[in-house]
Amino acid sequence: MTHHLHTGGCQCGAIRFRIEGKPGQSSICHCRMCQKAFGAYYAPLVSTRGAAFTWTRGEPKYFHSSNHVRRGFCDNCGTPLTYEAADGLAISAGALDDPSSLPPSMQYGVEAKVPFVDHLGALPSHHTMDDIAEAPFLADIVSNQHPDHDTETWQPVAAGGGGAPVSASKEDNA
Ligand SMILES: [Zn+2]
Ligand SMILES: [Zn+2]
Repeated sequence: MTHHLHTGGCQCGAIRFRIEGKPGQSSICHCRMCQKAFGAYYAPLVSTRGAAFTWTRGEPKYFHSSNHVRRGFCDNCGTPLTYEAADGLAISAGALDDPSSLPPSMQYGVEAKVPFVDHLGALPSHHTMDDIAEAPFLADIVSNQHPDHDTETWQPVAAGGGGAPVSASKEDNA
């Protein structure tokens, strides 16, 4: 039997989560609320129904996008993290440490789909380092993004950058 264990977190690493057991459906939602909440053309979400979901570091802040739904996000870095309704919690698929591990099998809210979304795969393509001449800063870039695995300790850079790191002491229970 396959052991299902998926981990992930926000971009700054102040919030981390774990899904143990086989998650529910993986999907994308084109509805206008998901577009806004993710700042994107659509929202990739994985239902955690049927699995054990836990926050292993920190916890999100919430915006109640309606009387039935609240959406969790990191209030330090802004990463959208959850869609939560009466039927359970869905996690942002892009926040998984390995987003490719749970490919979507359904689209919702297609009445609001941005028409060109169906053609994104046909756009001309570039690798990041192909543009090094136009973006020389890439050569010595220093990332503040949390790595794609759990860490014993991690000091997220405070929102706004440049300031003192946010204390993670009370959150290091992973
Ligand atoms: Zn964060
Ligand atoms: Zn939606």
